[in-house]
Amino acid sequence: MTRKIIIAGNWKMHKTPQEAGVLAQAIVSAMPTNLACEVVLCPSHTALATVSTAIAGSAVQLGAQNCHWEAQGAFTGETSPAMLAGWCQYVIIGHSERRQFFGEINETVNRKVKSALKYGLTPIICVGENLAENEAGLTQAVVSDHVNGAYAGLSAEDALKTVIAYEPVWAIGTGKTATAQQADDVIGLYIRPALAALYDEVVAQSITIQYGGSVKASNAAELLGMPNIDGALVGGASLQAGEFLGIVAGASAKS
Ligand code: PEP
Repeated sequence: MTRKIIIAGNWKMHKTPQEAGVLAQAIVSAMPTNLACEVVLCPSHTALATVSTAIAGSAVQLGAQNCHWEAQGAFTGETSPAMLAGWCQYVIIGHSERRQFFGEINETVNRKVKSALKYGLTPIICVGENLAENEAGLTQAVVSDHVNGAYAGLSAEDALKTVIAYEPVWAIGTGKTATAQQADDVIGLYIRPALAALYDEVVAQSITIQYGGSVKASNAAELLGMPNIDGALVGGASLQAGEFLGIVAGASAKS
């Protein structure tokens, strides 16, 4: 089964529009032409315009970090998938920082996923356990719950249009990386079987599942070389063009 390999940079709440344009330009100008993967940059909403300009004409794609589920309405401060659709191909949904700090729950993740798909965006759905859950042996229960919540009521056809990022919360921004084997096991033994239970084995084996959590140029090839890891969602290291490009180069470990 060949799956799409996707390296996405989550720039979180960093970079002014001007700084983001400069970073995107630096990444695009050094990007190899024979890419072994898709590359997506996810700046803050205010920088979508400058990054969009910087990547125009390149193979690099644009993603947002969050969206609302409604197309429009009285939701001060929010951005709808309809508004993002003109700029973006991807949108990150259910990132652990949104679950932790902004009240994101499975139900809102599910509504956002459905709405993103309706407007032609590919949702990158984040799932993953925190440290306490990991230490209590709850990893399978948590990732299954996140998968079941995100995909509730979604047809197999729509599920095939989604991407998952397995991000153990204890590895995000901490410098602690899950070992390549740990990450591959969670994806292969827990996440794909959860998808197979909802749909079937073909769907479970077709969905791109990235790993995220302190991925850097030095560990990318090992992580991306694992059979169940189909790319990376990269935070900190995506803010440096050289590091990010090193991770993109690591995707050639797949081919
Ligand atoms: C993330 O922001 O999704 C992430 C994985 O961050 P970091 O790479 O910094 O751990």
